[in-house]
Amino acid sequence: MIAAPGFDVIVVGGGPAGCSTALSFLRSSKDTRVLVIDDSDQTAFKVGESLPSEATRVLGYLDPTIPGLLREASVAKDHLTSTGNSSAWNGPDLYDNYAIMSVWGPGWHLDRAKFDETLRHSVRQQLEGGRRGELLCARWTSIERIGTKWRVEAQDQGTGAMQSYECLWVIDATGRKASVAKKLGARTVKRDDLLAFYTVFEKADSDVIDNDYRTVIEATESGWFYTTQLPKQRRLVVYHTDGASPTAKSARKLTEWLALLHDEAPQVSSLVGGPGYEVLNEPGVSYPRSTAAASSFLEPVWDETTQWAAVGDAAMAFDPLSSQGMLTALKTGSILGLELARRLANDETQRRSMVDVYDVIRKDFEEKKAHYYGQVRRFDTEFWRSRRGEVSPQDATR
Ligand SMILES: Cc1cc2nc3c(=O)[nH]c(=O)nc-3n(C[C@H](O)[C@H](O)[C@H](O)COP(=O)(O)OP(=O)(O)OC[C@H]3O[C@@H](n4cnc5c(N)ncnc54)[C@H](O)[C@@H]3O)c2cc1C
Repeated sequence: MIAAPGFDVIVVGGGPAGCSTALSFLRSSKDTRVLVIDDSDQTAFKVGESLPSEATRVLGYLDPTIPGLLREASVAKDHLTSTGNSSAWNGPDLYDNYAIMSVWGPGWHLDRAKFDETLRHSVRQQLEGGRRGELLCARWTSIERIGTKWRVEAQDQGTGAMQSYECLWVIDATGRKASVAKKLGARTVKRDDLLAFYTVFEKADSDVIDNDYRTVIEATESGWFYTTQLPKQRRLVVYHTDGASPTAKSARKLTEWLALLHDEAPQVSSLVGGPGYEVLNEPGVSYPRSTAAASSFLEPVWDETTQWAAVGDAAMAFDPLSSQGMLTALKTGSILGLELARRLANDETQRRSMVDVYDVIRKDFEEKKAHYYGQVRRFDTEFWRSRRGEVSPQDATR
């Protein structure tokens, strides 16, 4: 153990990956201290909202109170219950995949910012009033190696003050940016160039009921759309295409993004048009917003000698078609937390290499991705040909 003000583990990023790593580490070790540094804005909309019901198991493992909190929030309509997926993929008609057919039952359409805050609340509870560590609202700014420890610097989001902390292990859970790992020399290998352009809609007339709680997915000539109902009478619509695709430029402008939606995605368009949604009017926010959505992985993903690791999107990011990003972040965080506890306790009996864990997940994802994209034969554009393997995908480094 190291003396205060140091920590055994510092986790940079308090999203699903960072929180699950911290929670799993805390429950798997004794007399250790963890620091979580997170700079998220809890009032801002966060994309990535559908959580499969299978997540109940890992959430219950991390903190038995979380599934109950999720259920209560669903009753209060802070999160919505999902009824499954429906896709117009290799043809214009929708095919349903009901959540009821899942052994785990229906999943959720989350208020993501609220869900992430529930996870951070759980971390705070497990920190036992500071005895087991801290969760800071701060931005990580730098890292350096001092002897056998890491020195990490962060800026407090309230006061602006800079503060240094020391630790034995540092974990990068900063999401797709993988900021800490990149600073340590790792690189992100992109498997494609997918971008997402999203718009949040709100009901123009609150008396008109939207009873559709599916995620509806629709292939278009140079990409695909999905839509999901959100809490607070809102609906999210996302368009995905490659950065080099002809529609990537036009999708940045609302009029052209709307034209793409209404001309090319009739199923998704009808869900926005029917119940009378209009683009959410939020001060300081203009739609569509764009965000990276490529499948990617980090190389290397951890280093046992100097003791750092990446987790969640920082380690491996998935095409949103999978809807598995959060679940994978929660699962890999749980495994990493346990592995950190084993290493700090010098327990060599059942150690697993995170490289092996990530390799298995990545291989499974690549196979499923090729299978789902390979089903679309109705379009012969570069976007679909590259996904069917007819044009070799180019690895690119961010
Ligand atoms: C368009 C789109 C749709 C998606 N839809 C879904 C979906 O329906 N279901 C699903 O499961 N997944 C979905 N995903 C993926 C999902 O959002 C991610 O996989 C998930 O958020 C990964 O969690 P994470 O904790 O690794 O990263 P994040 O959720 O990105 O969390 C990273 C955290 O680190 C913090 N951070 C970053 N930098 C710093 C810093 N310097 N200092 C301090 N803190 C920092 C951030 O504030 C944030 O809180 C989607 C992704 C995209 C792009």
